[in-house]
Amino acid sequence: MYPNDSLDNWQRGQGLWADVPAADWNNWKWQLKNRITKLEQLEEHLKLSADERAGCLFAKDKLALAITPYFFNLIDPNDPNDPIRRQVVPRAGEMTVALEEMLDPVGEENTKPVDGIVHRYPDRVLFLVTDRCAAYCRYCTRSRLVSNAQDYNFHPEFESGLEYIRNHPEIRDVLLSGGDPLLLSDKKLDYLLGELRKIPHIEFIRIGSRIPVFLPQRITPELCEIFKKHGPIWLSIHVNTPNECSIELREACERLSFAGVPIGNQSVLLKDVNDDVEVMKSLIHRLLMMRVRPYYLYQCDLITGSAHLRADPRKGIEIMQALRGHTTGYAIPQFVIDAPGGGGKIPINPEYVKEVTKEAIVMRNFQGEEYRYPLVGAADKVLDSKAPELEHILT
Ligand SMILES: *Cc1c(COP(=O)(O)O)cnc(C)c1O
Ligand code: SF4
Repeated sequence: MYPNDSLDNWQRGQGLWADVPAADWNNWKWQLKNRITKLEQLEEHLKLSADERAGCLFAKDKLALAITPYFFNLIDPNDPNDPIRRQVVPRAGEMTVALEEMLDPVGEENTKPVDGIVHRYPDRVLFLVTDRCAAYCRYCTRSRLVSNAQDYNFHPEFESGLEYIRNHPEIRDVLLSGGDPLLLSDKKLDYLLGELRKIPHIEFIRIGSRIPVFLPQRITPELCEIFKKHGPIWLSIHVNTPNECSIELREACERLSFAGVPIGNQSVLLKDVNDDVEVMKSLIHRLLMMRVRPYYLYQCDLITGSAHLRADPRKGIEIMQALRGHTTGYAIPQFVIDAPGGGGKIPINPEYVKEVTKEAIVMRNFQGEEYRYPLVGAADKVLDSKAPELEHILT
């Protein structure tokens, strides 16, 4: 389906908005102001199904509808199942809550010492700094608070979060998230990163953001200067399909990389979006071409109303198996399930260890062939020894 990832095939352009002056189109504030947020706007550009129309009407009570013109432009309007469309256009399935689904699927509310801080792992925290995003992913694990459609009324408190981090010397890693931290003004980001840098026990600062994907125009030279100033700042972006790898995204990643920002990617495995070996391969190859290292592939969390988007976890294992050994090791993400209820991320791998006997570890390679590696102490039968000849050196 994606036989050719050659750079000539990557998308770019204003498409439906061809008559908008380039200066506006390339301005992130223009993109935000002109987002598609209403059913009527969506219907101007897409022939919606009844399923989608119902989903749009329900969105205001679940997770707001918002799509930047830039990102909308990557949708093929003639394909009712376009993989980008499935990520951002609501569907009726959002109204159905399956038995196993939850409002807080990974139990963040139980590990929240102060508002905005999730402290699950001993040495690192998640610091939620906003509840807004440039566009909204219909499967968002934080739908309970993001966009405030459910009246969660999240009021990100920078000061109490910073104070908590300052007072906990065991924290060495801070992950800014939300919502999308890169929607904050340059001034606020400069302040936050500066304050974190001042804390002696903070070794590692990273940001989770889908802004480069939804709104690459936000990656301005000024923003890059802030990252340079407080660097190293690591960034985790969220790209799910090769169609999102546009020339604009590639250029934004280049600006970030040249400012010294290492970039990883976190994808979510989604039904009929990227639960396919060829699609996933094309995606990860394009990521490497943008200097982006695939980091995690997430099984979709059990967020309410997501059954129509969740792929079978066995599909994830199958994809991982089709990648390892068959493409560049750097391109291969770790497949994880964030344990429902709050156990944290658990790596899920195809079985390469067949058994561990008394003598050896019995393995299977990427082609399914069996190999053995001896355990220490189990294979010390001496075949030959040069020691007698070397005795004069040893003594
Ligand atoms: C994912 C996550 C992290 C970061 O985990 P890494 O494996 O280090 O990327 C930290 N805190 C919480 C609560 C998380 O969900
Ligand atoms: S960008 Fe992230 S936080 Fe925002 S809606 Fe998408 S998954 Fe949720």
